[in-house]
Amino acid sequence: MSVTEFSLIHRFFSDLGGGEAVELAVGDDCAILRLAAGERIATSVDTQVVGVHFPVQTSPGDVAFRSVSAAASDLAAMGARPLGMTVALTLPEAEERWLTAFRRGLADAVGMYTLPLVGGDTTRGPLSVSVQVLGALPADCALLRGGAQAGHALYVSGTLGDAAGALAMLQGSWQPGAIDAEFLLQRFNRPTARIKLGRELLGKASAAIDLSDGLLIDAGHLAKASSLRVHIDPQLLPISPALSSRGCRDTILRWALSGGDDYELCFCLGEDVASPVGCTRIGWLESGEGVDCGREIDFLPGYQHFQASEA
Ligand code: ADP
Ligand code: MG
Repeated sequence: MSVTEFSLIHRFFSDLGGGEAVELAVGDDCAILRLAAGERIATSVDTQVVGVHFPVQTSPGDVAFRSVSAAASDLAAMGARPLGMTVALTLPEAEERWLTAFRRGLADAVGMYTLPLVGGDTTRGPLSVSVQVLGALPADCALLRGGAQAGHALYVSGTLGDAAGALAMLQGSWQPGAIDAEFLLQRFNRPTARIKLGRELLGKASAAIDLSDGLLIDAGHLAKASSLRVHIDPQLLPISPALSSRGCRDTILRWALSGGDDYELCFCLGEDVASPVGCTRIGWLESGEGVDCGREIDFLPGYQHFQASEA
């Protein structure tokens, strides 16, 4: 059964907007959010398009959850405290079962990140989801890409390459065992934005970025913003047991270095700062530019929507 635009908004998206910072949520022309004295707003928007960011067979709940995680990951990378989000949803049709499942995934993410849904937009067209996130930062402190110093250590959270492994599975080029497959699909469909870690790193890390396009590309952004070279030791990259089951060391390394969508944090710490739990030191910063991982890179360093053309 299909539903009209206004009953759709009311039924599926109007009651996920409660939160400490929320003065006014869905229903008016704007939402109103409250900041504590001296705080600043951090904001970012992220779009996920069917067939580009996720395969067409992805379940509606997973589409919702991974869209929010991708956007929330940018708050994590800044060390921001989540205040709320708006969701612009473009749908081919307003189908009740699809919307019910999508809403469930959205509600999971709202709960997981304490990120109330305070507004949005609903339009008709090929499926895409844009999530704008709003977070709070203290007056004098933020995690930025620039700021690392030569000699600082480079860390990542979690494990790398899992989403790329899952994508290979979804595209039919790899079939791991059932338990490993389940883990990897969960990493692709339900990635975790590292909000708690980001807030823990505020005031400790000298630079940070989240890994959305691939380690080589994203660490390259950090290197450029810090006017340094990043040195990565491929032997140190944290690989999940599920990904290790792929066997071929070269493929695993390629996924870990260039696979997108892991939404882990990559950050720099001075020598005297202890590693946070669940994080791995993978290299260091030195004078120079670019990313050096001690070997030739004969594959694309990560995902880019637009490539430079020869013409
Ligand atoms: P306007 O025309 O003033 O932009 P809309 O009719 O688009 O308002 O939306 C009505 C209300 O519903 C607004 O508060 C808007 O933020 C909210 N809204 C619309 N679509 C969504 C959605 N997909 N999720 C959450 N809130 C939504
Ligand atoms: Mg509108």
